[in-house]
Amino acid sequence: MKKFSSRGKCLCGGVEFSTKGFHRDVSSCHCIQCMKTHGNFAAYTNIEDKNLKFQNKKTLKWFKSSKRAKRGFCSKCGASIFFKFNKSKNISISAGMFDKSLKVKTTRNIFIKNRLKYYKIDKSLPKFNRYS
Ligand SMILES: [Zn+2]
Repeated sequence: MKKFSSRGKCLCGGVEFSTKGFHRDVSSCHCIQCMKTHGNFAAYTNIEDKNLKFQNKKTLKWFKSSKRAKRGFCSKCGASIFFKFNKSKNISISAGMFDKSLKVKTTRNIFIKNRLKYYKIDKSLPKFNRYS
Protein backbone atom coordinates (compact mmCIF):
# COMPACT_ATOMS: atom_id res chain seq x y z
CA MET A 1 0.00 0.00 0.00
CA LYS A 2 1.52 3.29 -1.13
CA LYS A 3 0.27 6.80 -1.65
CA PHE A 4 0.84 8.40 -5.08
CA SER A 5 -0.89 9.79 -8.17
CA SER A 6 -1.09 8.09 -11.50
CA ARG A 7 -2.88 8.08 -14.82
CA GLY A 8 -4.20 5.35 -17.02
CA LYS A 9 -6.28 4.54 -20.07
CA CYS A 10 -7.50 1.70 -22.22
CA LEU A 11 -5.98 0.89 -25.60
CA CYS A 12 -8.28 3.19 -27.62
CA GLY A 13 -8.40 5.99 -25.01
CA GLY A 14 -12.19 5.87 -24.72
CA VAL A 15 -11.68 5.33 -20.99
CA GLU A 16 -9.12 7.61 -19.40
CA PHE A 17 -8.66 8.15 -15.68
CA SER A 18 -6.42 9.49 -12.96
CA THR A 19 -5.89 8.11 -9.47
CA LYS A 20 -4.48 9.45 -6.22
CA GLY A 21 -4.09 8.44 -2.61
CA PHE A 22 -3.38 4.95 -1.37
CA HIS A 23 -3.08 2.17 -3.95
CA ARG A 24 -3.23 -1.39 -2.68
CA ASP A 25 -0.46 -3.78 -3.64
CA VAL A 26 -1.32 -5.74 -6.77
CA SER A 27 -3.13 -9.07 -6.46
CA SER A 28 -3.01 -11.61 -9.26
CA CYS A 29 -6.45 -13.14 -9.48
CA HIS A 30 -6.77 -16.57 -11.05
CA CYS A 31 -10.54 -16.98 -10.71
CA ILE A 32 -12.58 -18.25 -13.64
CA GLN A 33 -14.30 -14.88 -14.13
CA CYS A 34 -10.99 -13.03 -14.48
CA MET A 35 -9.75 -15.71 -16.87
CA LYS A 36 -12.85 -15.35 -19.03
CA THR A 37 -12.83 -11.55 -19.11
CA HIS A 38 -9.07 -10.90 -19.30
CA GLY A 39 -8.09 -13.96 -21.31
CA ASN A 40 -5.50 -14.72 -18.65
CA PHE A 41 -5.17 -14.14 -14.93
CA ALA A 42 -5.84 -10.57 -13.82
CA ALA A 43 -3.59 -8.17 -11.90
CA TYR A 44 -5.45 -5.56 -9.87
CA THR A 45 -4.56 -2.70 -7.63
CA ASN A 46 -7.38 -1.16 -5.61
CA ILE A 47 -8.25 2.35 -4.44
CA GLU A 48 -11.11 4.22 -2.81
CA ASP A 49 -13.80 5.40 -5.25
CA LYS A 50 -13.22 9.02 -4.26
CA ASN A 51 -9.61 8.78 -5.48
CA LEU A 52 -10.62 7.84 -9.02
CA LYS A 53 -11.45 10.59 -11.51
CA PHE A 54 -12.44 10.10 -15.13
CA GLN A 55 -11.08 12.29 -17.91
CA ASN A 56 -13.04 10.23 -20.40
CA LYS A 57 -15.50 7.38 -20.00
CA LYS A 58 -17.57 7.50 -23.14
CA THR A 59 -16.85 3.87 -24.03
CA LEU A 60 -17.00 2.53 -20.44
CA LYS A 61 -19.60 -0.20 -19.96
CA TRP A 62 -20.38 -2.31 -16.90
CA PHE A 63 -21.10 -6.02 -16.91
CA LYS A 64 -22.81 -7.60 -13.91
CA SER A 65 -20.48 -10.56 -13.49
CA SER A 66 -22.16 -11.96 -10.36
CA LYS A 67 -24.79 -11.05 -7.78
CA ARG A 68 -22.13 -9.25 -5.79
CA ALA A 69 -19.91 -7.56 -8.34
CA LYS A 70 -19.58 -5.89 -11.70
CA ARG A 71 -16.75 -5.40 -14.19
CA GLY A 72 -16.00 -2.27 -16.16
CA PHE A 73 -14.69 -2.62 -19.70
CA CYS A 74 -14.19 -0.55 -22.82
CA SER A 75 -16.93 -1.22 -25.36
CA LYS A 76 -14.65 -0.12 -28.20
CA CYS A 77 -11.26 -1.78 -27.65
CA GLY A 78 -12.42 -4.47 -25.22
CA ALA A 79 -10.04 -3.65 -22.37
CA SER A 80 -10.96 -5.20 -19.00
CA ILE A 81 -10.38 -2.25 -16.72
CA PHE A 82 -12.33 -2.37 -13.46
CA PHE A 83 -13.74 -4.79 -10.91
CA LYS A 84 -16.14 -3.58 -8.26
CA PHE A 85 -18.13 -5.18 -5.45
CA ASN A 86 -21.61 -3.62 -5.42
CA LYS A 87 -21.48 -2.45 -1.82
CA SER A 88 -17.84 -1.46 -1.67
CA LYS A 89 -16.43 2.05 -1.48
CA ASN A 90 -13.35 0.75 -3.28
CA ILE A 91 -12.66 -0.17 -6.86
CA SER A 92 -10.11 -2.54 -8.36
CA ILE A 93 -8.19 -1.31 -11.42
CA SER A 94 -6.22 -3.53 -13.79
CA ALA A 95 -2.56 -2.74 -13.19
CA GLY A 96 -1.80 -2.85 -16.91
CA MET A 97 -4.05 0.15 -17.61
CA PHE A 98 -1.63 2.60 -16.04
CA ASP A 99 0.68 4.66 -18.25
CA LYS A 100 3.68 4.21 -15.95
CA SER A 101 4.70 1.43 -13.61
CA LEU A 102 2.81 1.59 -10.36
CA LYS A 103 4.79 2.18 -7.19
CA VAL A 104 3.24 -0.98 -5.76
CA LYS A 105 4.22 -4.55 -6.60
CA THR A 106 2.39 -7.82 -6.94
CA THR A 107 2.28 -9.34 -3.47
CA ARG A 108 -0.17 -12.24 -3.68
CA ASN A 109 -2.00 -14.76 -5.79
CA ILE A 110 -5.69 -15.23 -5.11
CA PHE A 111 -8.29 -17.80 -6.22
CA ILE A 112 -5.61 -20.28 -7.12
CA LYS A 113 -7.56 -23.40 -6.15
CA ASN A 114 -9.16 -24.16 -9.50
CA ARG A 115 -6.80 -22.20 -11.71
CA LEU A 116 -5.77 -23.41 -15.15
CA LYS A 117 -2.30 -24.94 -15.07
CA TYR A 118 -0.74 -23.75 -18.35
CA TYR A 119 1.41 -21.17 -16.53
CA LYS A 120 3.52 -21.02 -13.41
CA ILE A 121 2.83 -18.69 -10.54
CA ASP A 122 5.46 -16.96 -8.44
CA LYS A 123 5.88 -19.41 -5.58
CA SER A 124 7.59 -16.83 -3.40
CA LEU A 125 4.29 -14.95 -3.03
CA PRO A 126 1.51 -15.88 -0.61
CA LYS A 127 -1.25 -17.96 -2.16
CA PHE A 128 -4.92 -17.95 -1.24
CA ASN A 129 -7.74 -20.18 -2.38
CA ARG A 130 -10.11 -17.23 -2.22
CA TYR A 131 -9.65 -13.63 -1.17
CA SER A 132 -6.86 -12.81 1.18
ZN1 LIG B 1 -10.88 1.45 -25.26
